[in-house]
Amino acid sequence: MPRWHPAAHRGRTRICRRCIGSPILTAAGLATDVPHQVQHGLATRMKAIVDNTVAVYTERNLPLLLAELRDADAREAGRAYRPGEGLDPEFDGLQLDPDPDPEQPYLFTLAELGEVQPRFAVPPPPLSEEAKEALRTEIALADQCANETGRRICELLIAHRRTIHDGIERYVEPQVTALLDDLALELDSPRSPWEH
Ligand SMILES: [Zn+2]
Repeated sequence: MPRWHPAAHRGRTRICRRCIGSPILTAAGLATDVPHQVQHGLATRMKAIVDNTVAVYTERNLPLLLAELRDADAREAGRAYRPGEGLDPEFDGLQLDPDPDPEQPYLFTLAELGEVQPRFAVPPPPLSEEAKEALRTEIALADQCANETGRRICELLIAHRRTIHDGIERYVEPQVTALLDDLALELDSPRSPWEH
């Protein structure tokens, strides 16, 4: 259960595609009334299980897709700076930079730095129509494996709903309550604390 802190999300307003409408969060009973960071941590951990299962399946059964992915990985490894990689599950896949403020423009953003391509990246050779068709079939099989794994995770999560709910009540609710109390205290006080 991650420690939830509201400041960690200030200024990032883009809707999270991993969490909005996620069947995994619905199955876990976390679709509403829970801070996004808590949802996101769980959604990302479950996504890692799906990704892992699909990677094993691909390695064993889908040689064309495996070759494509290895090429893509090699090109990706040529980038000097990859700000979206190696993040904790609570931050993985989120908007990298706060929203721009026209009054205070950035000199640079992490996302822009990450987009800079390596100078000597070799573009992949074009595929024949036949190879494309075969690759499409393998991608469909990989998708099917991902969907089946996701469905299985949802079934298992439903059985853990009670435990998840208890965890939220025990660890997250007190943090939210403490935050609301702090806010109420600030609003009650007519002057800032430094003036007392
Ligand atoms: Zn999210």
